[in-house]
Amino acid sequence: MSEHKGYKIETKCVQGGYTPGNGEPRQIPIIQSTTFKYNTSEDMGKLFDLEASGYFYTRLQNPTNDSVAAKICDMEGGTAAMLTSSGQAANFFAVFNIASNGDHVVASSTIYGGTFNLFSVTMKRMGVDFTFVSPDASEEELNAAFRPNTKAVFGETIANPALTVLDIEKFARAAHAHGVPLIIDNTFATPINCRPFEWGADIVTHSTTKYMDGHGAAVGGCIVDSGKFDWTKYPEKFACLCTPDESYHGVTYTERFGLEGAYITKATAQLMRDFGAIQAPQNAFLLNLGLESLHVRMQRHCENGLAVAKFLKSDDRIAWVSYPSLEGDKYYELARKYMPNGTCGVVSFGVKGGRRAAEEFMKHLKIAAIETHVADARTCCLHPASATHRQMNDEELVAAGVGPDLVRLSCGIENADDLIADIKQALDTVNN
Ligand SMILES: *Cc1c(COP(=O)(O)O)cnc(C)c1O
Repeated sequence: MSEHKGYKIETKCVQGGYTPGNGEPRQIPIIQSTTFKYNTSEDMGKLFDLEASGYFYTRLQNPTNDSVAAKICDMEGGTAAMLTSSGQAANFFAVFNIASNGDHVVASSTIYGGTFNLFSVTMKRMGVDFTFVSPDASEEELNAAFRPNTKAVFGETIANPALTVLDIEKFARAAHAHGVPLIIDNTFATPINCRPFEWGADIVTHSTTKYMDGHGAAVGGCIVDSGKFDWTKYPEKFACLCTPDESYHGVTYTERFGLEGAYITKATAQLMRDFGAIQAPQNAFLLNLGLESLHVRMQRHCENGLAVAKFLKSDDRIAWVSYPSLEGDKYYELARKYMPNGTCGVVSFGVKGGRRAAEEFMKHLKIAAIETHVADARTCCLHPASATHRQMNDEELVAAGVGPDLVRLSCGIENADDLIADIKQALDTVNN
């Protein structure tokens, strides 16, 4: 898919996905065009039949998007990728591409609140049933969650905001033992810190809105296929990929596009065609600017996250701290295995005094702004129980790993001493 396959991740961040020819633009051009011109109807007909590759309408594909998707594909070590309008669209497409009415999916219970809602309410209404399992589930508990109609397993490398770390190999083993792929939302770790395909995952998704863009500028998503899951071993279970698609003149995706291209081609040809959740080329351009410095920023996010987590741990006004790279954390060993160079910049903790103290503390922060956003160059914070997770009752909050006192602090790339001083002065104002 790209000429940069042999390079290290830092070089792929900067150079991947796009190689200009002689005299062509150095930066990825924004192809701000809804449509593309052809000389004959026959030429265009071949595109519609997926017999020739090319662009015809930006609702399905756009060259700017494809260059940026190719870069992310390269960074994750995949074979095909597509950009979507948001992370929500990416996770919806990733699952709905292989699971529809009457099917079942196993998912980790600590996933992002928006994804939990998508799965447990909206997709359930569409006839897809989900069983939520603890990310800490034993192999036996995991295996017990499968049904004959299970089509996929879903989890997050580092859950937002619960900060549980998924044992990717364990989940991959269970998925593969039941003949289904493992889909991993790798938003928080980014391919800088973890590449789930190297641990057995089959499909990776991203909310590129977070670290990848990194500047709070553009909402977006991405789906990457490893090309490793063999759909043709289960032709009845994955008939959608292994039998002719009548809406595309009888093309069979696995036959025409191979294991490396079938899944993403189907998602583009059917889901993007019908739902149209395409990323604007302008946003793809902004996303690429973020990707160019992702490796440099992630390092600083992780340094600041660890410094802040260590400070919080040492302050007796703090009830508890959760940060997977902090020694003694429940997920420290898993984090060291899957993310030896660092996890992310997000730290969760409870201020003594519970929900009220959390809200009071946050009000007095000066650098960290209260935002629903996370994983941004600027430090921000959120009280999920009163914001992103407010649709959940207390029982669901606990199951999702998001207690009512939890503060999610997303450390940016500012100076760590300044961040700690800001937290100190805000804590000083809270009456315990
Ligand atoms: C934010 C987020 C999403 C949703 O992405 P949007 O771009 O906001 O639609 C999905 N998964 C995770 C882990 C997230 O953090």
